[in-house]
Amino acid sequence: MKKRYLIAPGPTPVPIEVLSEGIIDIPHHRSEEFVQFAGEVFEKLKYLFQTKNKVFTFASSGTGAMESAVSNLLSPGDKAIVLVSGKFGERWNEICQAFNVETVVLESEWGDTVPLERIEKAIDENPDAKVLLTTHSETSTGTVIDLKAIGEMTKDKDIVLVTDAISSLLAQELRMDEWNIDVVVSASQKGVMLPPGLGFITMNEKAWNLVENSSSPRYYFDLRTYAKKYPESPYTPAINLIFQLKKAVEMIEEEGIEKIWERHRILADAVRAGVRSLKLELLSKKPGNVCTAVKVPNGVDGLEFVRRLRRKYGVTVAGGQGKLKGKIFRIAHLGYMGSFDVIIALSSVEMCLKEMGYDVDLGVSVKTAEEIFLKEGVV
Ligand code: PMP
Repeated sequence: MKKRYLIAPGPTPVPIEVLSEGIIDIPHHRSEEFVQFAGEVFEKLKYLFQTKNKVFTFASSGTGAMESAVSNLLSPGDKAIVLVSGKFGERWNEICQAFNVETVVLESEWGDTVPLERIEKAIDENPDAKVLLTTHSETSTGTVIDLKAIGEMTKDKDIVLVTDAISSLLAQELRMDEWNIDVVVSASQKGVMLPPGLGFITMNEKAWNLVENSSSPRYYFDLRTYAKKYPESPYTPAINLIFQLKKAVEMIEEEGIEKIWERHRILADAVRAGVRSLKLELLSKKPGNVCTAVKVPNGVDGLEFVRRLRRKYGVTVAGGQGKLKGKIFRIAHLGYMGSFDVIIALSSVEMCLKEMGYDVDLGVSVKTAEEIFLKEGVV
């Protein structure tokens, strides 16, 4: 027997109370009872996004929700400004290319963010750009952008601000309406504590005007169809996941969104301090509360390290993606996680690094994290 611990930034662990809600005699999705039930659950989703706007739910992963944003907001030949600081910023750009949308790409080093002045300058220089595509938490580098400041910048401009909150939702403070974020996309398998399979998109009036006018090809993700039928789904919804979603949202309501943001902040602080106490370096210049990206120390094979952690220790952290493959590992503090997930992560990292030749004083990072939890609270 090998006990397994999932400490990756998605999919994340699912509470047994949520999982068990999926074991049901499947109702028909066109029945009045189910449509009413789903409507009540979708209504509750507004709290997660801190919005009054309707939240549309697809049977898809997060990338489907990203694609729906591009195909509904932009037409072929339209221009979008894209912030690229990692793999998921790159994905926005790739989706735009698939839909023949012209992009102005603002790049930064992976682990950093595009400076606000550069964004402002690009908006001023490209008055024809219809949309600004951003990644709230760049999961590939563990970096968070200042979305509130960007919302402040775009609110009175003729550009629609879209953010990928696929990993940030619930882990990172996000107030869609108050911060003037026009479109937010997310997914079920991270902060929401569900299995993979639901994609979410929500938008305000400013963005909705673009949806009515887009000439991009779209069918499954045509938001006009979802809006017309809402809360009934135009196609077969992921019925069991919607039952699980109800339970997850109730747990979220019970804990309270501010407390959830704070729990993620404490977990992230403990991981960051623990990692630093091992004289390891963080990749990110603006680390967020979703996951901590740690540079693999010299002399250690990064791919083998992540593999060995999983196979021998039963601990799954994430490796590096794209150009960071083998160079970093990422410890998640996302969703259904608490203080002792951090302890397991740090303890296994210490042991595995020591085994692979890195000079570790065993217990140092665990002690550092324990001290933070005693001071800030065990969460
Ligand atoms: N964007 C971000 C920020 C993500 O973290 C992920 C998933 N790791 C995605 C997009 C892609 O989501 P999915 O795998 O659900 O399609």
